[in-house]
Amino acid sequence: MLPIWGIQQEAELDEFISYIENPPMKTPEIEAMIERDKNMLSGEFCRDCSYCMPCPAGIEINTCARMSLMLRCAPTDKQLTPEMQAKMKKIEGCLHCNKCKSKCPYGLDTPTLLAKNYEDYKRVLSGEIDVRNYT
Ligand code: SF4
Ligand code: SF4
Repeated sequence: MLPIWGIQQEAELDEFISYIENPPMKTPEIEAMIERDKNMLSGEFCRDCSYCMPCPAGIEINTCARMSLMLRCAPTDKQLTPEMQAKMKKIEGCLHCNKCKSKCPYGLDTPTLLAKNYEDYKRVLSGEIDVRNYT
């Protein structure tokens, strides 16, 4: 058995290998997808490293600061459970002590990022924003 980073199923490996003979063509749709992903994963992008933790207000920063990404890149329903809602609600108790911000190795304004993610989360939860067909 040979573990290969980034591959979870044999079908994915088969697909990768098939591109040796049939390289994928860069269509306008693929270019648009790449551009969208570049925008989404640059700038204010929380890497889930947890160096900013712990939070004195009990906020699970590494989860909550990237919620907008998870809503759009992972199964949305799993992010909207009562448990996840409770985790996100803790952002309301942020003390704005900036301890997290001072420890983030990526220079993120973590409290502001949390607030933005929470606002987006509430809009998704209320149905104001539909992320189901995002990917
Ligand atoms: S600024 Fe808010 S999120 Fe950051 S450590 Fe302080 S209480 Fe926690
Ligand atoms: S806010 Fe910064 S330190 Fe905290 S998990 Fe995200 S990237 Fe890591």
